Amino acid sequence: MMMLSEGRVTRPEAVSGEIPATVTGNRALMLEEPLIFEIGSPETTGVDFPEAAVGDRFGDLARNAPIGLPGLSEPETVRHYTRLSRQNYGIDLGVFPLGSCTMKHNPRLNEKIARFPGFADIHPLQPVDTVQGALKLIDELAHWLKMLTGMPAVAMSPKAGAHGELCGLLAIRAALEARGDARSVVLVPTSAHGTNPATAAFAGYAVEDIPATPDGRVDLEALKGRLGPDVAAVMITNPNTCGLFERDMKAISDAVHAAGALVYCDGANFNAIVGRVRPGDLGIDAMHINLHKTFSTPHGGGGPGAGPVVFSEALAPFAPLPFVDKEDGHYLLVEEETAGDHHASSFGRMVAFHGQMGMFTRALAYILSHGADGLAQVSGDAVLNANYILRSLSDVLDAPFAVGGPCMHEALFSDDGLAEGFTTLDVAKGLIDEGFHPMTMYFPLVVHGAMLVEPTETESKAGLDQFIAALRAVAERAKAGDPALKSAPHFAPRARLDETLAARKPVLVWKD
Ligand SMILES: *Cc1c(COP(=O)(O)O)cnc(C)c1O
Repeated sequence: MMMLSEGRVTRPEAVSGEIPATVTGNRALMLEEPLIFEIGSPETTGVDFPEAAVGDRFGDLARNAPIGLPGLSEPETVRHYTRLSRQNYGIDLGVFPLGSCTMKHNPRLNEKIARFPGFADIHPLQPVDTVQGALKLIDELAHWLKMLTGMPAVAMSPKAGAHGELCGLLAIRAALEARGDARSVVLVPTSAHGTNPATAAFAGYAVEDIPATPDGRVDLEALKGRLGPDVAAVMITNPNTCGLFERDMKAISDAVHAAGALVYCDGANFNAIVGRVRPGDLGIDAMHINLHKTFSTPHGGGGPGAGPVVFSEALAPFAPLPFVDKEDGHYLLVEEETAGDHHASSFGRMVAFHGQMGMFTRALAYILSHGADGLAQVSGDAVLNANYILRSLSDVLDAPFAVGGPCMHEALFSDDGLAEGFTTLDVAKGLIDEGFHPMTMYFPLVVHGAMLVEPTETESKAGLDQFIAALRAVAERAKAGDPALKSAPHFAPRARLDETLAARKPVLVWKD
């Protein structure tokens, strides 16, 4: 029975005591779901095809054994995938508190516009005369990105943040080589996202750490001390992954430039400053923007993201091809064949086809529906929500940098103060039983047992309060040393999986 208290529905106290297992393994209205290979059989089919009239057209190449795919009836197929989908958690179900991810609501308006046939049904190999509207959309989005960042150029083709990092470093490499000064080292702060050192290494650079100060920011003096003729670039995330603004950014850029190196900014956290700070004013030479974070396009496991890279005047000539240009009111896609001398210094091509049309359409729809003022409110509300979480929980969870003042878009807690033997992992697993996807854990590494929570601007106060209440309850159990928390989650389809084994020895193929 539901009870009303202070105008909101609250549930009665949970029943305590041993929770008996079910005979079937099913829970409430959730069925245990086997693999599709385990429920299907080759004799079953959801559709009857007529015998194919291919004769011996394929000769030796004709299949002579069953293909081995599971056969299911239509209702079995529908149920299988619907059941699996109910075991998933997504932004449309509740707060998705992952830090360093910006998992915000994707407005349905964007989805509707991205499905307009004029945007959705075009092909990258169509003649440009037939896709003038699409090119105009890309050009308009590019204009917004340049305006919001205060940078003169943008490459729209990178497919994700990490891909954008590579684009930026390849442009930096091209610029340095063009002046006959190829350098070998990229400096990365200890709080950097893992993609930064990975990208630098992938681009062929030696990676060196720069330490953080006790207040969670880049140690400017240590950075200055390391700069020298071998340093090609510094990669800085701003706001950084501790959820803090790098106040010394301009001094960092000046020092890096004075040493002949370039500044790459990881702009994945642009959501916290959009409409308020222009990275171009901070001396940045290249920065990727994750459209799937700041501009509300859906995240997809390495899939349909987009990571445009803005460039300074110094790097613009080295930007990749192709790009959209406009001549006498006509849009063109400038490719290798058409680039001419003017773009001879481009480092080349990163992708087969230009851009991610669906993402561009969603991002521009989001930008236009907010306008410049609305985007400033986006960052303001994102920061407000993160600080609300930080202040609401800092009496139960250790917040190492909260003493230094407010945070930006994400609240960082540590495992300090949990009972002996209780860890961040236990808190995360307990949160699943309370109905929420866990926060980012054990990242950034500069904090012991880190818990990084990013609510974004799209959560209401009621939604935040619900999440805070859940995390508070779990944190209190972890501080009190509640043994039941060690085996949480108790209500998920699976309890604790061996995460190390899953990562080290993944079983990706089903065998009979
Ligand atoms: C998400 C993120 C990235 C990587 O972006 P992808 O689009 O996932 O490749 C890089 N740096 C930071 C700080 C991020 O949050």
